[in-house]
Amino acid sequence: MAGGEKKQSLSPKEIIHHKFVVKASYRIEQVHVSSQSNCLYRCHLQLPEFSVVSNVFKRKKDAELSAAELALEKLGIHPQDDDDITVEQAWDDMVERIKYIFSDEFLSSGHHPLGSHLRATLLRDGERHGSVPLSIIAAFDAKINSGCKVINPSVDQDPILAMSYVMKAAAKLTDYIVVSPHVASLRRKNPYPPAIVEALDTHGESIKVEAVYIQCATSGEEVVDPVILDISSGRYYLDVIAEKLGLKDGSQLIISRTFGKTPSGFECRVYSAIPKLNPSDKSSKAYGKRPADEEDQSSHFKTPWNAKASSACGQDIHGDAIVAAVGYSWRSNDIEHDDVTLKSFYRICCGMSPNGIYKFSRQALIAATLPFSFTTKSNWRGPLPREMLSIFCRQQQLAEPVFTISTSPVKPLSETLRSFKKLKDSESNDGNNQCVNEYAGSDDSFNHYNSKDEEELPVLESGYRCGVKILSKSLQDLVLDCSPGSFYEKESHAIQNAALKALTWFGSLFDDLDADPEQPRCYTKGELNWMFTRNVMIKGKFPSSKRYEEPAYDESKTMDMDRKPKRVQTIPNGSLVSISYSVSVEVEADFWGRTGKCLRELIESNEEIEFEVGVGSMNPHLESVVTQMSVGQYACFITNMPAEGLVLADANDTARTRSLLSKLAAGLEYNVHLLGVKGPTEKRVESVFFKPQLSKQRVGYAVKLIKESSAASTLVDFGCGSGSLLESLLEVPTSLQTIVGVDISEKALARAAKMVDSKLNKGACNLKTIRLYDGSILEFDSRLHGIDIATCLEVIERMEEDEAFQFGKTVLTLSRPKLLIVSTPNYEYNKILHKSSLYHSKDKSISQRSKFRSHEHKFEWTRAQFNHWASKLAKSHNYSVEFSGVGGSGNVDPGFASQIAVFKRKSFTEVKKVSTQPYKVIWEWTRAQGDKKN
Ligand code: SAH
Repeated sequence: MAGGEKKQSLSPKEIIHHKFVVKASYRIEQVHVSSQSNCLYRCHLQLPEFSVVSNVFKRKKDAELSAAELALEKLGIHPQDDDDITVEQAWDDMVERIKYIFSDEFLSSGHHPLGSHLRATLLRDGERHGSVPLSIIAAFDAKINSGCKVINPSVDQDPILAMSYVMKAAAKLTDYIVVSPHVASLRRKNPYPPAIVEALDTHGESIKVEAVYIQCATSGEEVVDPVILDISSGRYYLDVIAEKLGLKDGSQLIISRTFGKTPSGFECRVYSAIPKLNPSDKSSKAYGKRPADEEDQSSHFKTPWNAKASSACGQDIHGDAIVAAVGYSWRSNDIEHDDVTLKSFYRICCGMSPNGIYKFSRQALIAATLPFSFTTKSNWRGPLPREMLSIFCRQQQLAEPVFTISTSPVKPLSETLRSFKKLKDSESNDGNNQCVNEYAGSDDSFNHYNSKDEEELPVLESGYRCGVKILSKSLQDLVLDCSPGSFYEKESHAIQNAALKALTWFGSLFDDLDADPEQPRCYTKGELNWMFTRNVMIKGKFPSSKRYEEPAYDESKTMDMDRKPKRVQTIPNGSLVSISYSVSVEVEADFWGRTGKCLRELIESNEEIEFEVGVGSMNPHLESVVTQMSVGQYACFITNMPAEGLVLADANDTARTRSLLSKLAAGLEYNVHLLGVKGPTEKRVESVFFKPQLSKQRVGYAVKLIKESSAASTLVDFGCGSGSLLESLLEVPTSLQTIVGVDISEKALARAAKMVDSKLNKGACNLKTIRLYDGSILEFDSRLHGIDIATCLEVIERMEEDEAFQFGKTVLTLSRPKLLIVSTPNYEYNKILHKSSLYHSKDKSISQRSKFRSHEHKFEWTRAQFNHWASKLAKSHNYSVEFSGVGGSGNVDPGFASQIAVFKRKSFTEVKKVSTQPYKVIWEWTRAQGDKKN
């Protein structure tokens, strides 16, 4: 930039320091996020009146900066106000820059895209010779662009505004530049030296490039057609585009920002005519304003708003438009180009909405939909919500989302933001909505969606909450503020769900691509605090909201897809199902006349795709059908056509498919094959139903019994897993001196070792030895001889039933502990966990396993079965046994969620010693030496 006094800009931290000096204190906290191996940091900034907590970052510095920014935001200080250059300086810089752009030096220097445009205009004939469209200067020069942004940050959204600034700046250069406002162009006053002009290369090749013409119809529905741009050598490509749009020349064009890319990576832009203002509305502001709605905008402009083109580029476009991938680059002076086919255009449009981002990531444009809930990372398919939100914000020229995490309830909206209009959610919550939510286990979906039969279910009341704020790129306008709703046990889940809510909200601004009118998604009042400002809102509209006539159902062929379906869902929510499917358009026989055969045009297919049931990650029809199937079954059904744009973005032969669509009111035919089902994860279901978690209750129960057996000194935990029981025993004083964990999973043992290691010196325990063995509990190891207590929590159901007997026999015969505690799920309780409505299936072919709490369980016993197992063992080994449990109540049906048998040795009999040591020591610690082994 040219000289001049530049204001010293202060960083957010410096501003905080100036204001508060020592009263501002930063505290860095290390955050361990299990999914990431490296350490993250969060910063707490304490100020006299309030404190703020930053997001988590990889670098301490970023956490501090974020905290300082949050504090400034609370204080209502916008550092960018003091930042950068002043408006006057920006004007001066622009004037300088324009002068330079029109200099001899600039024309002959390197490969500046703007330079190539200048050269092209010098090849024009007549009065247009050397006349440079204003739009070009505003769009292709970074310095002009940043100058315009200083003057008014909303130029990003409004190319005409930028053009008017360029014109104003150029008007100050009367000696050098001729400004022609009526033709929106600039020209150098004195001609370039002939030598320079002669040196210009005029031998460009002739090119034909495919583009897309979006004809704006007053009736509302734009017509999209392919168009060929014939750029013969020596012609300025902007003039070619202008002519196609019925304009005199390129100066009458406005050029959008670049948005999507063609398959080979060329950036596209939208070209349209500078809209004419209505004579009735002379306000200069009209250009800088976005239409609040379609009626409103028609009062400003003569030409109607072009929804398809606007949605594609995220800027307002009026009248007809052309989407093309042509232009100059920094690489050479030659024009670069690529075809924008109908298909690539529709794909770009589709990819601009959050739903589209998700659909593309899964390569299932028709089948997939953006889920409404994030349950676990292991069940999630596709990029994580947070990632998608970032992609979306970048595309829509919004700033990176700001997440605010809290562990206690926070005020929904901060004081400073009060003036903003709060979005009413009543419209999306009218009583007619019938929402699908039969699954109580998905951790927050049931908070958002009206449950048909409202059951009292425990909701987390503590944990992490996360809100998300989205600002415009200039950071001046708040676009969306979603304050924290539900609590989540994990911080990362709170963040992912906040991102998902924001995405869903943005998604609803775009036309519902393929929403099922019968199963709308709705938010309950009070759950979400949304607010947004209209003027910076993306006026997003999906290219086509056209729906076709409902097809007639072919009863003989389709599965039972009643209008008001009485669904018999046999696959519970939370399950991961894997399917293969194909989607085709049905073309009625008479359409082709001759053959009389029904034809099908394949639109989309997938060999194998996996999704989680109950979170809305698949189109509702497909999910509804699949969840009624059993593994190995095939189904075929027909649905309404989704949005036209979606089909065209998907189809292989866009033109052909389009001709079929326009002539027929056909339905979409789905063929689906259910490949496999994995049940909902036990832990997730349980964590929703039990407070504290069932696993914690089990451990608590065992610890209580262990504490009561005061003379015990050795304990073996059979199938110790990650060591949850051992961990508790490190924290409480007991009489135990030696504790041993046995498991066959190396991974689980590694986690257990890590946990024990980190807890060793903190506890109040009397332990002298801790040992972890790798081995099967079906085998006996003589080192487990004569132990006092044995525990086996939630392990036997992972073996075959006869092995469970074998285990009992081995322990009670060879180890002969005084006390043996065994827990296993109570099968009868599953109907509560899975909600009975899901299990009314009469279909005997449905695999039993899907009824268990985990797909890893080989069996789950009723109370009677467990009783039989334990009593038989007790009797034959001279033990007494008592039954108890945790979760729910033992006195009422169906009993405890987790059933527990407590075996007590009645008499001590010397057992025959066997010498066998099949177990491998994985980890060992003894107090005497403080010694560790790996
Ligand atoms: N008892 C722990 C872990 C339960 S998960 C808790 O309550 O948290 C069941 C564990 O049993 C798994 O870690 C699995 O590896 C282990 N397991 C299953 N079959 C086993 C066998 N035959 N021998 C040893 N461990 C087994």
